[in-house]
Amino acid sequence: MTEVFVRVAVDQPLAVLFDYRYALPDAPVVGTLVQVPFGRRDVVGLICEIAYSSDVPAAKLRNVTSICNGCAPLSEAWIALASFAADYYQRGLGEVALPALPQALRDASRWDRLFAVEPRYRLLDQGRAHLPDALPARASALRRLADALAEAPSLGLSDARALHPKASATFEDWLSRGWIDLAAPDFTETDTGTPAPTATATLPVLTAEQRDAVDAIAQAQGFAPFLLHGVTGSGKTEVYLHALAALLAERPDAQALVLVPEINLTPQFEAAFRARFAALAHGSIVTMHSGLAEGERARHWLAAHTGSARIVLGTRLAILASMPKLAMIVVDEEHDPAYKQQEGLRYSARDLAVYRAKQLGIPAVLGSATPSLETWWQAEQGRYTRLTLTRRAVAEAALPTVKLIDLEEERRRGRASVEGLAGPLIAALKTRVERGEQSLVFLNRRGYAPILSCDACGWVAGCPRCSAYAVLHKPERALRCHHCGWESRIPKSCPECGNIDIAPMGRGTQRVEETLANVVPGARVLRIDADSTRRKGSAQALFSDVHAGEVDILVGTQMIAKGHDFRRVTLVGVLNADTALFSHDFRASERLFAQLTQVSGRAGRAGLPGEVMIQTRYPRHALYQALSRQDYVGFANSTLSERRDACLPPFVYQAMLRAEGRTLEAALGFLAEAAAAFAPLPGAERVTVYDAVPLTIVKVFNVHRAQLLLESGSRAALQTALHAWQPVLRSLRGVLRWNVEVDPLDV
Ligand code: ADP
Ligand code: ZN
Ligand code: ZN
Repeated sequence: MTEVFVRVAVDQPLAVLFDYRYALPDAPVVGTLVQVPFGRRDVVGLICEIAYSSDVPAAKLRNVTSICNGCAPLSEAWIALASFAADYYQRGLGEVALPALPQALRDASRWDRLFAVEPRYRLLDQGRAHLPDALPARASALRRLADALAEAPSLGLSDARALHPKASATFEDWLSRGWIDLAAPDFTETDTGTPAPTATATLPVLTAEQRDAVDAIAQAQGFAPFLLHGVTGSGKTEVYLHALAALLAERPDAQALVLVPEINLTPQFEAAFRARFAALAHGSIVTMHSGLAEGERARHWLAAHTGSARIVLGTRLAILASMPKLAMIVVDEEHDPAYKQQEGLRYSARDLAVYRAKQLGIPAVLGSATPSLETWWQAEQGRYTRLTLTRRAVAEAALPTVKLIDLEEERRRGRASVEGLAGPLIAALKTRVERGEQSLVFLNRRGYAPILSCDACGWVAGCPRCSAYAVLHKPERALRCHHCGWESRIPKSCPECGNIDIAPMGRGTQRVEETLANVVPGARVLRIDADSTRRKGSAQALFSDVHAGEVDILVGTQMIAKGHDFRRVTLVGVLNADTALFSHDFRASERLFAQLTQVSGRAGRAGLPGEVMIQTRYPRHALYQALSRQDYVGFANSTLSERRDACLPPFVYQAMLRAEGRTLEAALGFLAEAAAAFAPLPGAERVTVYDAVPLTIVKVFNVHRAQLLLESGSRAALQTALHAWQPVLRSLRGVLRWNVEVDPLDV
């Protein structure tokens, strides 16, 4: 008898598959999950290849322990996607494929329970004709059973037993008469979550621009990348909904994947999708994000994998969901940096979305009011089809007017500002409160004050473990490090000189919240940031308060800027934006423009005119000027030409090697060795290697960090060299950790 071997991917930091002997009764199938011995443990792996010989000596070969029968094999296309991601982002296939699965699937001891799906029964027409009339008049339990079957799409055995203790035998009988049959397992049926939507609202009539966009997407053949460039409030969601409706109506088994940048936006989208697709069963729309409980995550994943979920709505991790009938991908707010995973496999979900669409030959719709310059450049070259929405969808809603408050001038003219809030902004906030309208105040810094210092001796509160200041948190009465989580009580006096006059410098959201309560008496002020939303579900509750009109002024970080459709906000105030103008990161201005456009876009969405006030010392700066003209295109094109002149992405490709050591010398030493070893590698002649430099915040949690930037005009040359570099990097010693990031966002 010929022996069979399987090559298995396991979650190990080595870019190889491991050979196992396969001696189980069922023939092995690529894509099947298996349990295999690895070292002294048993781990879950994925069969990637089947072979009839192995180079591993027979004595060393071990057997596959068991296979996961309940889970259909992952498709070849899915394995190809994971392989591409592994290859491109310089990881092992197992390091990509296994972490992409829900935890419950990666633990073989839980397989039995996970797949012990109870049988579900469905009433057939034949049965409808006989039930309940054929039942004896006084058999009330049987009648209840028949009613329950008639009312729901399917009925689980345990629910049936609660109605009738002999449900099992009854069902056997009815099955044999052809009155009922077994329904497909429903992995999502135990979800309580969003209630079924009530009556569907009448559909809005699409604007001509929306119609054109929907038509273009619906008519697309094969791989079709679209950039849906629509100003804030132009109704991009409506375009997605119509395009999806067309797809699902035309192909009854098609699946679609919709990505959003933030967990906080999923409930809003989920509600809109459930309302629109009310005809689909509850389990046809599932969410996928890191906030789901483990069991839920597993059920949703399986619903996508078995095809019973038609629409998967998720954050970046959903890009690796197994969806055998995937027919369209939507990436909302495609420019959002949250699509980039910052640890482990450092992938861009947006980029993988385009790759996946190309692989499957399907449309990908990337939507944004401020597309990333990478995407914009693709559209400029005609590689992505541009669909443009220039106007807000709601007839009366105009884009807000943008006003720059010149802080220098305010000061010169001796006009009072209170705690960093300029007079005109305070006046505008008061007017809104009087009119019963809502305002947002946006600043990208949480805590009370970023610095606590002593005037007398110059002492500044710092984190003992990081090269960073400790941030003052007043409500929590603590000094906190935002980099490592270190926390201590606020000192009563200067620890250096004993001066009791230590004072906070600068402002964070907590301080602005406090100031607003003082300068706008009677206003109901609410703060939303990472601190105020620490508890699970609390962000949702806070946002509901805003929607319900229980808040006059909402102050917060970028959490309040994204995607929310606030109906009654007419004023947006922006504080402290200038710092990003002079960042050493070449993407800072792109990000600032996007953020300010986003947050501005929260104003004036429902008829009432919106106003945006930006406090700045540089009102003539080109970025602010473009912003006040609502001129994304001008900003994008001028920034692109600067990038071209400076040879920066998207005109070159970058990769970053980061090292973490016990000392800075160790980290820099590692990078220097790595750079020396890079030079002779294939492809390296077309790659520029920059000097290794410490990170801006060099020490975090007592670990010193440095990085080395690589750049090339040829993506292929960079990839070749990076692959050749991997074994060299693994052989180097002297640091705690290192990682390679391809297409880094923070440089
Ligand atoms: P965007 O995502 O482009 O910022 P949204 O999709 O949130 O915009 O839409 C903004 C608002 O306009 C929403 O309240 C939406 O219901 C509404 N809307 C969208 N399309 C139309 C339309 N054709 N007619 C009327 N209202 C619309
Ligand atoms: Zn002091
Ligand atoms: Zn720290």
